[in-house]
Amino acid sequence: MKSEYMERLRKIPSVDRILAKKKIQPFLKEYPRKFVKVRCNALLKKLRMDIRLKKRKVFVLKEFIVDLRNTLSKERTSMKKIINATGIILNTNLGRAPLPEHLVNFIQPILVGYSNLEYNLMQGVRGKRYDHLTGLLKDLTGAEDALVVNNNAGAVLLCLDEYARRKEVIVSRGQLIEIGGSYRLPDILKASGVKLVEVGTTNRTYIEDFKNAITSKTKMLLLSHRSNFRMVGFTKDPEVKEVVLLGKARGIVTMMDLGSGLLISMEGAGLKHEPTVQEMVKTELDIISFSGDKLLGGPQAGIILGRKSLVNALRKNPLSRALRVDKFTISALEYILRIYLFADNPVMEIPGLAMAFLKTSVIKKRAHSMKQSLQEAGKAKVRVTMAKGFSEVGGGTLPAEVLPTHLVMIVVEGLKTKKLLELLRSNIPPIIARIEHDRVVMDPRTIFPQEINEIQKAITRICGCV
Ligand SMILES: *Cc1c(COP(=O)(O)O)cnc(C)c1O
Repeated sequence: MKSEYMERLRKIPSVDRILAKKKIQPFLKEYPRKFVKVRCNALLKKLRMDIRLKKRKVFVLKEFIVDLRNTLSKERTSMKKIINATGIILNTNLGRAPLPEHLVNFIQPILVGYSNLEYNLMQGVRGKRYDHLTGLLKDLTGAEDALVVNNNAGAVLLCLDEYARRKEVIVSRGQLIEIGGSYRLPDILKASGVKLVEVGTTNRTYIEDFKNAITSKTKMLLLSHRSNFRMVGFTKDPEVKEVVLLGKARGIVTMMDLGSGLLISMEGAGLKHEPTVQEMVKTELDIISFSGDKLLGGPQAGIILGRKSLVNALRKNPLSRALRVDKFTISALEYILRIYLFADNPVMEIPGLAMAFLKTSVIKKRAHSMKQSLQEAGKAKVRVTMAKGFSEVGGGTLPAEVLPTHLVMIVVEGLKTKKLLELLRSNIPPIIARIEHDRVVMDPRTIFPQEINEIQKAITRICGCV
């Protein structure tokens, strides 16, 4: 018995022989040799233990490589570049809006060196960090004043705290939203210490409902974008204009949480009209807020636009210090805002918008060439087909709106759909696909053309292992 165990141990190759194997060479190109060796030794130690415990019998190179890949990829940095093949343009799980490539060139010297973040170069005195963005936001939207904070949830919190703390805020029952990632409007209201006054019914709210609910304690009429759901059928919302007039007449602040700050109409992408930020500014709402990293296509931020006296009050609120943004956000957002202001065709330069505006004919071509290259990569082991399908804007914008697309469907012989999805996910870089009709599908809309090569390599690797 003992000798059989010894015999098995003896058959395990030495770490140097393993490192010399052809299949190990790709790892040595990617990681330092010493690092790979240490990990191999650890895996061999575990294997010896498993053999002793009779959990495993012998050394199998194929298994060893899978284990090695898993350990090594776990040891890499926690934040990783991934390939988004889901066709969902804005996905909070996947980092929301992708930023333009050239943005890095602009922010790099600012981040690695010192900057004039809070320094007035003209006068050589202390400056204000927000001055870098205020002018741009005013020019772009027509608003009187602007302030940028950490995110839109923070923007809403700050406004509620400043304008309505310990007082009443009126919200339509049809707009008391919850979006993913624990943003629930009633909870934000509670956290900012304001009293929520719900009006209307789930599906129908009239301006009279707002009017009748106003008391001497009412400090704000709050409207919210529905974000990730839509009401259909017998529904009614008061017009923004009506709410603005009511607020003006009674001296109460009117605010709208717009969700995704749309600066360009999405009708050009074949989607239904969503009011743009500029249109909302024209309605004369006192305050508007929206995210920087949804359809705007910038870094995470909460952008607040509004009347000068009101925005000024926010600047002095201690919460705005707690929610302040850093040089990363300010420089990245400045770059994005300048694209909107000065580029000939901003849609082409903001990746998320470019994806939404991609013509179906272009996607079809991309799907076709992807199909060919993946078929070639997997040879007889893979079957790649094309099918019509739908992409989504995602990120709680434009709910229930879809964009027609062409999907690439992949079946690998001997691999269950879920297993294939898993193997793609454990690729370096990870490829996130989705399942439709029990097939793994990839949507070229959200895949950057230069990433196809990586997908091709992944398919070659996966097919070589089955
Ligand atoms: C996305 C969204 C938020 C939250 O914005 P963050 O920038 O993620 O904090 C708030 N309200 C609405 C309507 C939204 O769509």
